[in-house]
Amino acid sequence: MIKIARKEECTGCHGCYNVCPKKCIDMNFDEEGFLYPSVDSDKCLECGLCEKVCPIIHIVEVENDPIAIGCYNKDEKIRMESSSGGIFTLISELVIQSGGVVFGAEFDENYNVRHSYVDNMEDLQKFRGSKYVQSTIGNSYYDVKKFLEQGRQVLFSGTPCQIAGLKRYLRKDYDNLICQDIVCHGVPSTYVWEHYKKFIANGRRISGVKFRDKSTGWKTYSLQIDFDDGSSYNDIGNENSYIKGFVKDFYLRPSCYECKYKTLHRESDITLADFWGIEANEPELDDNKGTSLIFINSDKGRITFEDIKKDIVFKILDIKKAITHNPSACKVSLYNKKRLSFYRKYKKIKFDLLIDNLMKESMKKKIIIYTNNKKSMFKRVLAKLILK
Ligand SMILES: Cc1cc2nc3c(=O)[nH]c(=O)nc-3n(C[C@H](O)[C@H](O)[C@H](O)COP(=O)(O)OP(=O)(O)OC[C@H]3O[C@@H](n4cnc5c(N)ncnc54)[C@H](O)[C@@H]3O)c2cc1C
Ligand code: SF4
Ligand code: SF4
Ligand code: SF4
Repeated sequence: MIKIARKEECTGCHGCYNVCPKKCIDMNFDEEGFLYPSVDSDKCLECGLCEKVCPIIHIVEVENDPIAIGCYNKDEKIRMESSSGGIFTLISELVIQSGGVVFGAEFDENYNVRHSYVDNMEDLQKFRGSKYVQSTIGNSYYDVKKFLEQGRQVLFSGTPCQIAGLKRYLRKDYDNLICQDIVCHGVPSTYVWEHYKKFIANGRRISGVKFRDKSTGWKTYSLQIDFDDGSSYNDIGNENSYIKGFVKDFYLRPSCYECKYKTLHRESDITLADFWGIEANEPELDDNKGTSLIFINSDKGRITFEDIKKDIVFKILDIKKAITHNPSACKVSLYNKKRLSFYRKYKKIKFDLLIDNLMKESMKKKIIIYTNNKKSMFKRVLAKLILK
């Protein structure tokens, strides 16, 4: 029966949940709104399968030589609907054309995020675009295996910890599986997202959400929310309280602060990211409509890239240089000491006020540290002069 020594390590990948032959593992929300497994010990067979598939118990070290590429989809419409360069859609189209199935993250009817699958071009649009909330895997790993064993090609798109969960669950390599992950900053909780939706809707019903609306450009990181009365909210990331709190790491899943998947040596075949720092690195690939930075991590990734090459504008890059402005590629998000305070207060204080207050407090602290440093510098210089 699965026992996690430290709760903070569990990524909520659902591997244990999918593998349990007795269906005696439930995934339940904790008080912060993240899912964790809990076992009904009366039904448990003590078969040990849940421990066998857990990616935090069985960590895999990958040895590979990834290639970095800056690129974007030549189809401007798809590109504008996607978060960065629209590369996910191109890979998905290949798989669907071959009669395969694509797994990704979609909004459910309440605009919470979950994994599901599609096998036709029209439905692909629901996976397009980043959703900055943890996606619930549900029975997806079980479904992936079912399709693989039927001989259908499968593309599974998810966070690196979800890819690790799937790979441990499958316990063997399948030639007909392509895994695509993202450079992942971390994931906020469902409860915080639900709370924010209520705050911004203010009694209206949400009819659409786009975390990366590009109407003011790719780099503005705009959140667009539509309501059923025809009104809508749209603001750039720097002005939006949910995005500000996300980027400041106030409400990421605890496992994100000690993520084991921030590396250039990944288990996926292809990694997708925003090409941040493009102005300095490759300005000719930048028209502010979205450019992806992708890593080709395996032979399957190389074959897939060869197949999409004719549909993209691209340039092969020096990987170390390409990630200089993309810390999430290799660096773990730092635990923000204000996180506790956020979770204690977020249901009591207006969302935007709380975020602004927490950010102001951090700024005040920085100024105090800066002035203290200045003061001690001044004292040190003074002491040196006196001693002379
Ligand atoms: C939570 C999160 C954090 C990210 N952090 C960074 C970062 O720090 N730096 C960076 O460069 N890029 C980051 N990305 C990746 C980036 O935002 C784009 O997703 C990526 O560049 C792919 O863009 P695209 O235009 O090719 O495809 P898009 O059409 O934008 O495709 C999005 C793909 O992401 C998947 N996806 C969307 N939301 C989720 C989710 N919640 N969980 C799992 N999969 C999801 C979809 O299923 C789809 O496959 C992050 C994405 C997410 C979801
Ligand atoms: S030990 Fe076996 S039966 Fe018990 S929870 Fe784990 S997978 Fe399920
Ligand atoms: S398999 Fe995944 S969800 Fe289950 S305990 Fe391990 S990390 Fe957590
Ligand atoms: S930061 Fe790491 S642990 Fe958190 S969702 Fe991303 S891959 Fe998973």
